[in-house]
Amino acid sequence: TGSNAALLARREAAVPRGVASAAPVFAARAENAELWDVEGKRYIDFAGGIAVLNTGHRHPKVIEAAKAQEDLYTHTSFQVVPYEPYVALAEKLNELAPGDFAKKTLLVTTGAEAVENAVKIARAHTGRPGVIAFNGSYHGRTLLTLGMTGKISPYKKDVGPFPSDIFRAPFPDARQGVTVEDSLKALEMLFLTDAQPDRVAAIILEPVLGEGGYHPVPAEMFQALRAICDRHGILLISDEIQAGFGRTGTWFAIEHSGVAPDLITCAKSMAGGYPVAGVIGRAEVMDAMAPGGLGGTYGGNPVACAAALAAIEAIESEGLLARSTALGEMFKARFAEIGARVAPYRMWDIRGLGAMIAVEFVTDFDTAAPDAALTKAVIAKALDKGLILLACGMHGNALRIMVPLTASDAILEEAMVIFEGALAEAIA
Ligand code: PMP
Repeated sequence: TGSNAALLARREAAVPRGVASAAPVFAARAENAELWDVEGKRYIDFAGGIAVLNTGHRHPKVIEAAKAQEDLYTHTSFQVVPYEPYVALAEKLNELAPGDFAKKTLLVTTGAEAVENAVKIARAHTGRPGVIAFNGSYHGRTLLTLGMTGKISPYKKDVGPFPSDIFRAPFPDARQGVTVEDSLKALEMLFLTDAQPDRVAAIILEPVLGEGGYHPVPAEMFQALRAICDRHGILLISDEIQAGFGRTGTWFAIEHSGVAPDLITCAKSMAGGYPVAGVIGRAEVMDAMAPGGLGGTYGGNPVACAAALAAIEAIESEGLLARSTALGEMFKARFAEIGARVAPYRMWDIRGLGAMIAVEFVTDFDTAAPDAALTKAVIAKALDKGLILLACGMHGNALRIMVPLTASDAILEEAMVIFEGALAEAIA
């Protein structure tokens, strides 16, 4: 296959620059929390293919299930000849999702497609067009989801106009000066100025803002939104694509608030590295579209469904929800200690739920001005030393942890030592 440099040159000639890669190296193979590039260099993977690998690269149970399915059939299209793995996965998701009511699940292929379908179903059920989304949110790169995404650069830059009837509310982030009360006040104002409440189909938010910086939604925000939705007949959608399947210590991150949403979108770590996504929701809402209104040729691919069932089983049988909570505590403690020792007053915030943790860098503690340059430097130094890290946040100044929950303590400790070294060099 050649060197990283040779592959990079071929890539630059053949692939548009719009699809950017965080690492300038090419993958050769990967196992659990480790990855080797084409030159044989080893990395610890704290990105997990963007939060897809809570069960690690090539979890043995996931690979075994996918291979067994490949020996039977790999595609029929569920809309032509249905198959059991789709139904079994839907049953499992209906059972795992919060809410003491009958549920049904639609399977699609990508996260953006799940969000598109959740909105479509909400519109069909309510007969209303409006959608309210939040600042800093990320819901996908298709036109509707891009319109809902609350961050211009790089996603929305220069590609409008976006679909109508999408409204924006401020995300409650107290450290940025927006309390839950402020956010709710702005929402009430939105109902008076732009978004007629009985013309709003859904309010959608990520229970922990993902690309926007790993900010958890306070429980009282979800409780208030539930009441607002019930008052106006609006559906509440929890976009769990990044936060779901154990990342925060529960199956779905909204469970921390005790609130049951009407619809959930999920993808990523649901299937341990295979492309399948879903919309889980109240049965009567999910049945709003007439036969033929939902689907897609590849939706709920049987190999991906078999992989998902195995990944979910692994999360259950290996106690990965509890492991996530324990890892979160470990990361918070270790980052605080490393920050105090190596970069005093530059690590402004260490936050998250369960193992969905981010650390945020600032130029100095008093102004708390975002330091994207330091964040970038830490990522580059860490990669050089064999640790793959990804940034997030409105200002690109946070590092997020998406390491497999199956990573050994020894590997996690090795990564912390690399991180400390990278931070020390970046700050020098
Ligand atoms: N919603 C959230 C919360 C996400 O994190 C993402 C992906 N980062 C998406 C939607 C879109 O998913 P996909 O990239 O599979 O389309």
